[in-house]
Order: sequence, then structure tokens, then C-alpha cells
Amino acid sequence: MMKMVVGVSESFSAAHSIPGHKKCGKVHGHNFVVSVEVEGELNKGMVIDFFELKTHLKEVLEKFDHSMLNELIEVPTSENIALHVFKELKSRGLNVVRVRVSENVDKWAEIRA
Ligand SMILES: [Zn+2]
Repeated sequence: MMKMVVGVSESFSAAHSIPGHKKCGKVHGHNFVVSVEVEGELNKGMVIDFFELKTHLKEVLEKFDHSMLNELIEVPTSENIALHVFKELKSRGLNVVRVRVSENVDKWAEIRA
């Protein structure tokens, strides 16, 4: 059976500061965009229902929206946010193969399983 990959993305707005960083040490905000991909075999023409995947991602990101990220993740870099999202989606039983967190159009961090 051929495997395929499907993906969705969601955004959230949040503040953070990167402790010890000379520029990013000051509190500032981003409109983060999180893209995730799930791999699997087709079942009735789908890898996973987009609606179901979106719902999972929205639930995982809910606590981040309009938050101070430092209160949720010790060092809230895009890399650590991606790691957090990856682990939470995995723990929900999803076969996540990629998570990308973009803090700007020109800056992102990505995990590939
Ligand atoms: Zn930043």
C-alpha cells in the first residue's frame, strides 16, 4: 500500500523573550505559523481527515495563543515550540513526520521524524 503525507497549518500570536540573547532577550511578539505533516496509508481515500488533524493542532496550540511563552516553555525558541508540538501530537497517536514553526516568513525551525 502506498503511503502519503497530508499537512495542515495554524497560527497563533504570542510574546516571548530568549533569556541571555542580546536582541531577543527583550519581550517581543510573533504571529507564529505551525505546519504539521502526518504520513499514512490511504483509508477510504484519506490519510487522516483534515478536519480531525486541524482539531488536534488547534487543541495543542490553544494554550500558546495570546500567551507569554516563557511561562509555558523554559526557553521558548521556535525549535523548542516545534519539539513541544511534535511530542504532543505524537502522544495523541498521530504519525507526525514533520513539524515546522515559523516566527516570520524568513525564519523557521523544523523537525523531521
Ligand atoms: Zn522572537
